Amino acid sequence: MGVRFDNVTMEEALARAIALLPEKRGAYVVTPNSEIVYEAMADESLRDLLNAADLVLPDGAGVVLGSKILKTPLKEKVAGVDFADRLLGHLAETGGSVYLLGGKPGIAELAGQKMREKHPDLTICGMADGYFRDEGPVVEAIQQDAPDVLFVCLGAPKQERFMARHQKELPVGLMAGLGGSLDSFAGTVKRAPKWMIRLNLEWFYRLLKEPWRFKRMLRLPKFLWAVVCRRMRGA
Ligand code: UDP
Repeated sequence: MGVRFDNVTMEEALARAIALLPEKRGAYVVTPNSEIVYEAMADESLRDLLNAADLVLPDGAGVVLGSKILKTPLKEKVAGVDFADRLLGHLAETGGSVYLLGGKPGIAELAGQKMREKHPDLTICGMADGYFRDEGPVVEAIQQDAPDVLFVCLGAPKQERFMARHQKELPVGLMAGLGGSLDSFAGTVKRAPKWMIRLNLEWFYRLLKEPWRFKRMLRLPKFLWAVVCRRMRGA
């Protein structure tokens, strides 16, 4: 549907991310779900930002299902928040650092606290909320702290635009656009129970918990319908 996903398992995604860290060239990873892919189908600039990423991970059952319908099956869903947690584990083991950017004021601090409980050796070298007017001071702070990994949790497409815009001036190992992941780490937004995740029903749990997302989530069936139409056309 115009977005070139990397066909990787979680382990492979992690290995690729780790390999990018020493380069310190502001590589970035995006984690689109089907809502974002649907948006990108109508927005060439967003599509270009996604395809320019060093790693494009399928964050959602809808994307994996779509890939199967199109006969270009992706190996598995690689949820951004799980990928982020695995990356934190690696940083803690190797003495690497992370900077947390995004979420409402106080969320990054809370998320950082929870991250440290799980990974006591983790270095969190800085954090800032995602409701800034001027990007300049934020960029300067990140430059000063020079983290190995920068979590950019501003929601799509704001985070993708931020990463692409500042890529050249941010000499970090890897930036990761992770949507609402800091809310999830902080525990202010709960993830679905494991059995629901296993049954690919995480989207349904989210709809129950955050019903105001209904309109936005209608993009999921619209995306799948567009996939089926593409398949029927044999494209
Ligand atoms: N957010 C932010 N700055 C903004 C808009 C949003 O930091 O200007 C944060 C918001 O607080 C939330 C995240 O970005 O933590 C977006 O979450 P959502 O679940 O909507 O993300 P997505 O579905 O795109 O992954």
